[in-house]
Amino acid sequence: MKPIPFDNRYIDLGDDFYARTVPATVADPGLIIYNEALGEALGLSCTGLDEDIRAAVFAGNRVPEGAEPVAMAYAGHQFGHFNPQLGDGRALLLGQVSRHDGALFDMHLKGSGRTVFSRDGDGRAALGPVLREYLVSEAMDRLGVPTTRALAAVTTGENVAREKLLPGGVITRIARSFVRVGTFEFFASRGNLDAVTRLANYVIEHNYPDCRDESNPYLALLATVIDRQAALIAQWMQLGFIHGVMNTDNMSIAGETIDYGPCAFMDHYAHDRVYSSIDHHGRYAYNNQANIGLWNLTRLAESLLPLLADNTEAAVVAAKTALNKYTGLYEGYWLDGMRGKTGLQKQQDDDKALIDALFDVMAAGKADFTLTFYYLSRLDIEPTEQDRDLHALFDDPEQIDQWVRQWRARLHDEGSVDTTRQARMQAVNPVYIPRNHLVEAAIRSAEDNNDFSVFLDLHAVLQRPFERQPEMDAYMLPPEPHEVVEQTFCGT
Ligand code: AMP
Ligand code: MG
Repeated sequence: MKPIPFDNRYIDLGDDFYARTVPATVADPGLIIYNEALGEALGLSCTGLDEDIRAAVFAGNRVPEGAEPVAMAYAGHQFGHFNPQLGDGRALLLGQVSRHDGALFDMHLKGSGRTVFSRDGDGRAALGPVLREYLVSEAMDRLGVPTTRALAAVTTGENVAREKLLPGGVITRIARSFVRVGTFEFFASRGNLDAVTRLANYVIEHNYPDCRDESNPYLALLATVIDRQAALIAQWMQLGFIHGVMNTDNMSIAGETIDYGPCAFMDHYAHDRVYSSIDHHGRYAYNNQANIGLWNLTRLAESLLPLLADNTEAAVVAAKTALNKYTGLYEGYWLDGMRGKTGLQKQQDDDKALIDALFDVMAAGKADFTLTFYYLSRLDIEPTEQDRDLHALFDDPEQIDQWVRQWRARLHDEGSVDTTRQARMQAVNPVYIPRNHLVEAAIRSAEDNNDFSVFLDLHAVLQRPFERQPEMDAYMLPPEPHEVVEQTFCGT
């Protein structure tokens, strides 16, 4: 039996969609981690393979039988500026696999060498960003957020030249699709309507088959992608996650979080938080993510325009109607999620005002985002000494105390029961997130001492983010002042 039962479909789109590319070989592949559970869920039988062979496969040194590696073509708006040709410059679609239920998954190597799309880049990835993507994407999955998954990470035994020489790595990631908004832009900007149509048909077939039954499948596709992005970004916001580089080429058509670069979870709450070193004007700041989602989706709508109606005028009306739903969808998802996080079961008109007020108090008090909700989820409806944990997060406990009084009055109104509310809240408010300083410590230890135990321990804790684990409190705490990570870098 082949270890990876490839079922490649993207290749059928034709060769304007990709460039066939053999992954570069690396000097000395070493397997850091292989995601057995994910491999099994995808029907792979790699677990039984020798570690050397797995390392060689996931480093790109050994192209497995049935793989047809290609660098995917795409364009994209980067920080608002259109670049007609980006494409996989340091990544390859190794092939695709169908899960037992028929769902198609893309298997992508990142850091696998130069391609025709590499421009000035070396096609390589440094180990640090490989470990970050592995940790954060797998944590996002456990947190219930749609995301690409990490299948394997390897060391290359080679250095890559960044500001300094760094050890190299390759990550294998799995997505429901690596088609991006920028993939549509690539063909639309070239006036290649035939390719846009084929791409739309491909996405409908593999990701959104229900759209086929709609009177206008392409309009249904646009509406569905709008809905998925609204839901996704609402989830990011509920966890304090900042993607950091929401260019249209980093927005998945499948509604998954993709291309983890300078991403970060915030510690203490600040509504306009930016971590990315290259985001000078805060375009991708925390509180701008929903707006940027709409901006990107508007670029998608423009690319699909000729498919939406027989004439431009009607197409523009249809696109605008679909885009106009985004804000309401986003706000609905956000508010539903926030009601869940604050334990409100009934809907009331002033719920949004109550939740907004909590964020204002968190901002004023520089309270830790994750712990605020976690400690809130442990409170009883009557004050107890548990209140102290929450108070301690705020510079000025009086303000949060006042808010909690309002919140308790609201819980009384709806007859909220402590045990059930606490259980519901604790199922959505994590104890552990991949905090920047923890991720940084894992990378430091791997890079500086070739010690992956810090990475593996953190990864293990993040497998069960909603469950307080014995002796793991160090993983839930915000950084000490000397540990704070203020900036994150693409650096791949
Ligand atoms: P990203 O940072 O993932 O949004 O990448 C933006 C574009 O730059 C994509 O086309 C990447 O393939 C390309 N790119 C980024 N880093 C490299 C690299 N080291 N070598 C080649 N291309 C790269
Ligand atoms: Mg990218």
